[in-house]
Amino acid sequence: MTDAPILVLLDFSKVFEVDCDASNVGIGAVLSQEGKPVAFFSEKLNHSRTRYSTYDKEFYAIIRALNHWRHYLICKEFILFSDHEALRFINGQHKLNNRHAKWVEFLQAYTFHIKHKSGRLNQVADALSRRHSFLNTMQVKVSGFEILKEQYSEDPFFKQIWTKCSKGPVGSYLLQEGYLFKGNRLCIPEGSLRENIITETHAGGLAGHFGRDKTLSLVKEHFYWPRLERDVARHVERCRTCHMAKSQGQNTGLYTPLPVPTAPWEDVSLDFVTGLPQTQRNKDSIMVVVDRFSKMSHFIPCNKTNDASHVADLYFKEVVKLHGIPKTITSDRDSKFVGHFWRTLWRKLGTKLQFTWATCCEVWWERIFVSGT
Ligand SMILES: [Zn+2]
Repeated sequence: MTDAPILVLLDFSKVFEVDCDASNVGIGAVLSQEGKPVAFFSEKLNHSRTRYSTYDKEFYAIIRALNHWRHYLICKEFILFSDHEALRFINGQHKLNNRHAKWVEFLQAYTFHIKHKSGRLNQVADALSRRHSFLNTMQVKVSGFEILKEQYSEDPFFKQIWTKCSKGPVGSYLLQEGYLFKGNRLCIPEGSLRENIITETHAGGLAGHFGRDKTLSLVKEHFYWPRLERDVARHVERCRTCHMAKSQGQNTGLYTPLPVPTAPWEDVSLDFVTGLPQTQRNKDSIMVVVDRFSKMSHFIPCNKTNDASHVADLYFKEVVKLHGIPKTITSDRDSKFVGHFWRTLWRKLGTKLQFTWATCCEVWWERIFVSGT
């Protein structure tokens, strides 16, 4: 996890650097000098923009960031850390559509050098957009979530930190979009939300009454409050369902269903409808890919004799280009099939890596993020 960097005062004699990043739901940017952040910017994508291609999202992030800091950037040459591919893509278009034409015209007012993102680990922008997506998810899942912002100033533990953070990050604490974070963990003031979070994580939705350690690690991944460990331990100890299960002698614990997905297109299910009449193009089956978070589905015609590498090809062509690589795939096929499918997908990703870095780097970060915690 990235600790919140301390913001430094900007100095007009030094060169400005702009880092941009786009995720599926939001964009983020950092303005820095000599590698030290001076200002942050983030924005939620509206519904029609979430359907932009990866290149367009990346491009949109650049446009918004430059516009946001135009008073610093318009008068002097600066460095733009971006994905070459996004800009090369737009340069390679023979005929620009209206949107691209407007963006290109906008960019012409600025003077900048482009440096490739991967040359500089884009941790700050990444953490920024990760927190942003997390807040979006919470706003969808928890009604009245915004009230949290007003509770910090009255919370005995957080009120001092909250006041200090209004002037800039303090240690690992920082404010983003009015919410208090400790690193990437959202701070939760005293109140019923703490209990709700524990209940939801331990037994809500499809969660299968996880044990203490599992519940704790899930809660700690996204949330912070003082004595969180104690609260989780108490809750799990007192859970009646867990007690009843134990008293019936089920030492193995309750049946644990699939973990509940927390973001779109991270966990997908892959199934096949077979035995359909053959089409003129020799298709007799449908591959059904469902995002377990949003339930959005893709139906891809295929053939029942297609093996795992064919299926991986199709998946790559039809799904990866839109939504990236998922973290997990659930399938009704046997584990050998799924294993082969994954290997093929990763091999394809490996060969494509240098060409579509933007689509992949999010996944890489995800992996580094997961294994680093
Ligand atoms: Zn329980």
